[in-house]
Parts: sequence; structure tokens; C-alpha cells
Amino acid sequence: MKKDQGFDTRAVHAGQDFDPTTGAVIPPLYLTSTFVQKSVGDLRGGYEYTRAGNPTRDALEQQLAALEGGRFGMSFSSGLAAEDALLRAVLKPGDHVVLGNDVYGGTHRLINRVHGAWGVTNTVVDMSNLFEVEKALKKGSTKILWVETPSNPMMKISDIAELSDIGRQAGAIIVVDNTFASPALQRPLSLGADVVVHSTTKYLGGHSDVLGGALVLNDEELAEKVRFVQFAAGAVSGPMDAWLTSRGIKTLAVRMERHSSNAQALAEYLMGNPAVEQVYYPGLPDSPGHELARQQMSAFGGMVSIAMRGGAKAARRFAESTRVFLLAESLGGVESLVNYPAEMTHASVRGTVLEVPDNIVRLSVGIESVEDLIADVDAALAKSPKRSK
Ligand SMILES: *Cc1c(COP(=O)(O)O)cnc(C)c1O
Repeated sequence: MKKDQGFDTRAVHAGQDFDPTTGAVIPPLYLTSTFVQKSVGDLRGGYEYTRAGNPTRDALEQQLAALEGGRFGMSFSSGLAAEDALLRAVLKPGDHVVLGNDVYGGTHRLINRVHGAWGVTNTVVDMSNLFEVEKALKKGSTKILWVETPSNPMMKISDIAELSDIGRQAGAIIVVDNTFASPALQRPLSLGADVVVHSTTKYLGGHSDVLGGALVLNDEELAEKVRFVQFAAGAVSGPMDAWLTSRGIKTLAVRMERHSSNAQALAEYLMGNPAVEQVYYPGLPDSPGHELARQQMSAFGGMVSIAMRGGAKAARRFAESTRVFLLAESLGGVESLVNYPAEMTHASVRGTVLEVPDNIVRLSVGIESVEDLIADVDAALAKSPKRSK
């Protein structure tokens, strides 16, 4: 794989060499837990046991590293498993994490409740307020600055380059959850981040048929620590999951183009609908993160959130009334999904600083015909009350 190849070429070919024995264009799926040794400790191709390494997972890990432009890629059984491995590799009791006030709810839960129980503390801040971030960083104890942009579900954009500078000065490593943008639209390592995190369940897998997570980073010492946790704690992706994810990644670039153009058209339509109070999409010129998003992203992605004028009741009604948009958690698949965060994806952060207003609906805009998506949303909005009582 040549370093200077374009992104779309890397997505198709990195780690995906044809099988040299049969010529099969697609590398085989190695559904095996263990590998026969020639003599004790004499391995064929370095493989001994699938938790330690498997050719199908290796192929995916090369693909992930190539997409993010990093040296080391690691694949896990879920996004949260990837996050957990990173946190365990970096943190010890007494350490501190600074994270955004609308990071993925599960990330906050993992840091606050699972790692919190082991003596890790955290401060939640508005990542778009650099002054507040600086204040929250504690030199010596803050080991991680956790950034998610665009954020979920309010689509806030934060400045990866600036935050990387500020975090590094305080001695923290900068972690960017790049799930919403995907590497097709945004490459945090090139903007100064140390580690990129993905829920590959979303855009990378892209077909809502597999769970997975990934870490990509450049520092060799940190990579060794994370590899050790991956092996020793064992939350690896199985070969079938890795294979499906690799297959999804090959079409990432073209999918993201369609997700972005469909989302842009839908966001513009929603702006003019009287049932909608506000549209959150960085591709709208008046959105607060628009200029920054233009600088650090190559397109604006497929996620759109709206605030309903009719309040919680209208939001629920709308989410339950679409037909093409399926009512389901998750995002990033080819099919459009609608989600009511207050009671679905973000129910776990109710009553915390991460709580999502109850009139918000989040749309994961798929790659279907855009006229069908607009007609579907239009019909569903017509059914929801225009005013809250
Ligand atoms: C879904 C998601 C995660 C968690 O990933 P899982 O694969 O569900 O464990 C983390 N971050 C973001 C932004 C997500 O959307």
C-alpha cells in the first residue's frame, strides 16, 4: 500500500491484498480460534491464538490506520470496548479526564461510573468554550482531553487543532471520537490529536449489521500499552465482525458523499417547516459551527437534529410517525433512522449535565432517494402538534 494514494483508494485496498494461494480478490475470512504450530513456539505467519491476532482482524486494523493516516490501528468488539481499552492503558487511580458536555452518553457513563469507581475523576465542560476547557485542565493530573466533534445530538463543532494545543500544554493526550464525521470527512491526527476513537458500528461498518470499535494512534509506546490491554482484557473483534467492517469501509467515501448531500437537502427543507423551531446541522451557513466545520471537515456528514416547536409531545409524535426513517437507536447505516434522544440514546444521561432537551429529535440521514426522505419527514411533521400546551 503506497502512502501517497488517495483516500478512496486506501479505503478499498489498504490491508486488503488478494489471496496469494488462490488469487481470491477478497482476502479470506479466517474463522478460527487457534493456529497449528510447526514445532513448539514455531508459528506460521506469527499467529497462535485469535485473541492475540487473526489475519482478518489484522487486515481491518491496517485499513483503519491507513484511513486515519496513523501508524497503529486496533480493532475491538464495540466502540465502548475500544474506549475502555484506551482508558485502562492511559489512566491510573487519581488521574483526571476532561470531556465535553455533549459527548456520547455511553462515554460519559464509562468514564464516570466504571472508571470513576477506580478513582478516576472527570470534569465536564463546553468544548466550544476554550477558556472553560483551559480552566478545567489540571496540570499533572489531567491525562486525557476527550473531544467529540460533531457532537451528539446537538451537532456542536469544536476546534480540534486549538484543543490539541491547549491539552498538550497541560500534559494531557488528546482523544477525538471521530464516529460522526468518519475519516472520509475529518482526520483528527492531522489536526494534532493523539488518538482517534471510532464506533465502527456506525459509518465505517455502514450497514447496521455489525458492532465494532477502533483506535488509531501514532505513538509507539502508547500503542504497545493499548495492544497489551487489547490482548490481556480481550475485547477484540471476532473475525466475522472484522470482515464485515472491512467490507463496509470499502464504500465509505461514496456513502459519506450521499449521506452529506441528503442531510444538507433535508436540513434546508426542515428550516422552512413551521413545526420545527431549530435545525442543528453544521452545513447550514447560519449554524454556529459552520465556519469551523468548513475548515476541519471536507463535508458536513449525515446527522441532523431538530428542536420541535411543539415540545416533547410533538417530538415523540414525529419520531413515531415516519415510515422511511425507522425508529431505532444507532446511526451511520445506509438506511435512515430517527431517534428520540431524551428517552432512547440519551436516557442514561437524564438528570446529568449531559441531559438532552426533550423536544429534540435526531435523524441519521441514509443514502435513499432524497425526495422520499423529505416527503416522509414532511408527512410526519404534519401530524405533530405545532405548539406545546
Ligand atoms: C455509538 C457510539 C459510541 C459507542 O460505540 P458502540 O459501538 O455502541 O459501543 C461511541 N461514540 C459515539 C459518538 C457513538 O455514536
